[in-house]
Amino acid sequence: MVDSAPENLHKIEEVVLETDILIIGGGNAGCFAAIEAKKINSDLKVTIMEKAHIDRSGCLAGGMDAINTYIPEGKTPEDLVRWSRAQAGGILREDLALRIAELLNTPIEEWESWGLPIKKNEDGSYKFRGQWDIAIQGSEMKPILAEKTREMGVEVINRVVATNFLYDGERIAGAMGFGVRDGKFYVIKAKATIMAAGGAGGIYKPYTNDGNDCHHQLWYCPFDVGTGYALGIRRGAEMTTFEMRWAAVRTKDFNGPIDTISICYKTPMINAKGEKILAERYQEQGGDKAPRYIRASAPMEEVLAGRGPVYVDTRHMTPAQIKEMKTDYLNERPSFVLFLAANAQDISQEPIEVYGSDPYIVGGHTASGYWIDTDWQTTLPGLFACGDVAGGVPNKFVGGCCAEGMLSARGAVQYISKAVEPAGDFSAQIDMEKSRVFAPLVADEDGIAPRLMEEKMQRIMDEYAGGVQQFYRMNEERLDKALRHIKMMKDQLRYLYAKDLHELMLAHEVIDRLDVAEVLIQHLKFRRETRWPGWQTRMDYPEVDPALDGFVNSRVNLETGEVEMYLKPYVQIVAGHRMKPTL
Ligand SMILES: Cc1cc2nc3c(=O)[nH]c(=O)nc-3n(C[C@H](O)[C@H](O)[C@H](O)COP(=O)(O)OP(=O)(O)OC[C@H]3O[C@@H](n4cnc5c(N)ncnc54)[C@H](O)[C@@H]3O)c2cc1C
Repeated sequence: MVDSAPENLHKIEEVVLETDILIIGGGNAGCFAAIEAKKINSDLKVTIMEKAHIDRSGCLAGGMDAINTYIPEGKTPEDLVRWSRAQAGGILREDLALRIAELLNTPIEEWESWGLPIKKNEDGSYKFRGQWDIAIQGSEMKPILAEKTREMGVEVINRVVATNFLYDGERIAGAMGFGVRDGKFYVIKAKATIMAAGGAGGIYKPYTNDGNDCHHQLWYCPFDVGTGYALGIRRGAEMTTFEMRWAAVRTKDFNGPIDTISICYKTPMINAKGEKILAERYQEQGGDKAPRYIRASAPMEEVLAGRGPVYVDTRHMTPAQIKEMKTDYLNERPSFVLFLAANAQDISQEPIEVYGSDPYIVGGHTASGYWIDTDWQTTLPGLFACGDVAGGVPNKFVGGCCAEGMLSARGAVQYISKAVEPAGDFSAQIDMEKSRVFAPLVADEDGIAPRLMEEKMQRIMDEYAGGVQQFYRMNEERLDKALRHIKMMKDQLRYLYAKDLHELMLAHEVIDRLDVAEVLIQHLKFRRETRWPGWQTRMDYPEVDPALDGFVNSRVNLETGEVEMYLKPYVQIVAGHRMKPTL
């Protein structure tokens, strides 16, 4: 056990390292960033600081069965941007989206050359499931990526949780963190730092959190808790579009993805009366091709209107199709196959019930995250961001996050060609962070357990900030109440008690989630309109307000500690109607 009483802080073993580029988070985007940096200059020292183990960490840990965005022959990057813009209700950073789209196919083809099986048609072309997504056998995609990362000579430090940046007065100069297994305190100085720690799950109460033996059933990676955002928020980085939350239709009681069924086998969503919901009620918004936020809110509206439960209708599927679908799930979410078996559910007779997920803040699906420039640098000099933690571009998914990893590495390499070594004496910062990090271990044993704090936060967010139990609905007064409670909870953090290193990690997860929750509520309050019903349903402002056609951005004022909000104008580059995918 680590003894972190203030008088014993000096006894905590410190590991001090120096590197050229530090990457926080060795998931999908982080590994691609590392590989790209080494490709540009193999002499560079590139280090990944990873909370789990890169072999099976992040969103790819359980595998995937599709790459959701890949540009087919005959289509252009502009076509993809148009589609993505319409899916996101007309709000996306077109400058960044175009750069990503231009690079999008390259990392996927590289992955294939490293051994990722991509499904093919008889003529050898990739097998498309829908307009933009290709089918893969992705159960091993993360180990393949991890192996390539090591092969490139990247230094990987597994099981170290990043908790704060090093700051030399002018720029980010690396990061600090603690070892979840060894209890050591890590200080990594870097000429450039890339944040790639994923999005934020577990801010809201999942409806599956009902005493299951697993902590709770999230759709998102449960270890991506918003730390990537929180570090930037605490340092005053500009953030964008947190209010565009990601919520999606998922298999009921299990929170499993349903694209595998709905896209591949054209299974319509039906209500309890057997009506095809999208075709019959959402024709004006595009029917089955309606934007994703409509598809997320539609089933919940059915339940509210008394026409639930809602299903995806699998009853037309043949035994061969059902077998193939289960094989796809074994590549991505194997436990769903067990779930069907455990419930002895024959889906050719009984359709699969679906429900909305809890909301997530995830910049790979929606546009929440760091505000970045076209070199993928955040507003904090020396800090770059990629993947789910980077904002402005929704619908990046696997391929877009890889491409962003590469683009952020290019930006970072260019930056360090001009930057000097991180200078200054960091000892005061290190001491302060050490005592902050280990404080829950020496707190009063009668203090608050991290899990209790987490459950309280999730309930507040669910009830007052538009969670799934509230059918994603919110109004100003409830948001005010959420904000008051979240601020109160932040004040109570000093009572957090962790009995071991694992609980210490949970303690920091809730600390970080609370910082994200506060900023999120401010974003939800600022957008006094309903631009994405389901993702952001303001009961008191049910219409779109043209005056809010832009990016809602925020920054913590480091002097007052208050979150400052403002609107940045929309810049259209790609011609066409912003709400319609075609010209
Ligand atoms: C269940 C699920 C299914 C999906 N299905 C598809 C699909 O079929 N097709 C598709 O195209 N996209 C899919 N996506 C989306 C896609 O996988 C993600 O958008 C993308 O992989 C995110 O990459 P990332 O690098 O930003 O995050 P991740 O790959 O999650 O990487 C984040 C990394 O940061 C680490 N980390 C977190 N906190 C810290 C910390 N404090 N210190 C150090 N390290 C930290 C994590 O352990 C993790 O390794 C899916 C996502 C999920 C969750």
